[in-house]
Amino acid sequence: MWWRVLITVLLAAIVGLLLWDRERVMSVLPGGASPHEAYVRSLEAAGLEDTALGRDWLAAARRALVEPEKTSLPMETTLRQAAAQPRAFGYLLDLRRGRVLNVNLTLEAEEPAHVFIDLFEVRTGEAPSAVASARRDSLTLEHEIRRDGQYIVRIQPELLRGGDLRIGNRTTAALTFPVAGQDVSAVRSFFLDPRNAGRRQHHGVDIFAPRETPVLAASDGIVVSAGTNRLGGNVVWVLDPARRQRQYYAHLSRQAVSGGERVSAGDVLGYVGNTGNARGTPPHLHFGIYALQEGPIDPLPFVSGARGPQPPAASSSPPSSPSGATGEKPPQRSTGVGG
Ligand SMILES: [Zn+2]
Repeated sequence: MWWRVLITVLLAAIVGLLLWDRERVMSVLPGGASPHEAYVRSLEAAGLEDTALGRDWLAAARRALVEPEKTSLPMETTLRQAAAQPRAFGYLLDLRRGRVLNVNLTLEAEEPAHVFIDLFEVRTGEAPSAVASARRDSLTLEHEIRRDGQYIVRIQPELLRGGDLRIGNRTTAALTFPVAGQDVSAVRSFFLDPRNAGRRQHHGVDIFAPRETPVLAASDGIVVSAGTNRLGGNVVWVLDPARRQRQYYAHLSRQAVSGGERVSAGDVLGYVGNTGNARGTPPHLHFGIYALQEGPIDPLPFVSGARGPQPPAASSSPPSSPSGATGEKPPQRSTGVGG
């Protein structure tokens, strides 16, 4: 109806006028308020939180956290948002440490609008706690998950703005895949697989690849040591200070770095082999992650979905025709592979 459209446009104009000056002030408020929180304050300051529209908008924001829609990733959906009907969209996600959550929005609308994207962590017995927010003028949020658990993505357009809102949520790997040209399909042995007839557990993943395939740093870091031990053979330890983790690369045919060196993600640390207790098995990289003050954690979520880049040919490049590159099929899910 034409008069509904007219009322919506008039209301939008009034809200815009009331908020325009406020938001400039809010953007410099101390305390690290998220854009959504700053917007709520500006509604309150403008006296809009007691209008029917303001109340509906605030209620929608709360409801999205109380009744989120359980969602598996990746997901993509398009929603038609009516300007006069305040809504918020809550998605409940199970996320693992080592995944990077990507939220991408596009808004097709007559007028530009702010859309607030906020990420909350769900903890039993507590209100969801905010962990990240998109910047005010951004329609994307990217956040690395530091703890396994349930999270809520809340998406809410500002008052009196409508249009077609396309929402895409997915996760990517936080780390670089540590073997050149390979991906998670080359993993044949997993975290906590039994070893030695169940007397110990596998504290990493085994990634099978032809002998002499470059082994790559999974993140920026510092080579803590490059040496030899009985189980791992030729090994490299890298400290990842940003995540407070150490990475363990074992069974290398040889190392390409030494202790104390700084490395960037994708740098060559060594080459795939079968040294240590992997002798007699097909060449593979044993890749482990040890969180400081915690111990071994599952590397798989950190690298799933990534493909190891081919390093640029360098002076320390491996032999041009790698031995063992042909006819060597890894076992489907080997047991007894060491390290
Ligand atoms: Zn292993």
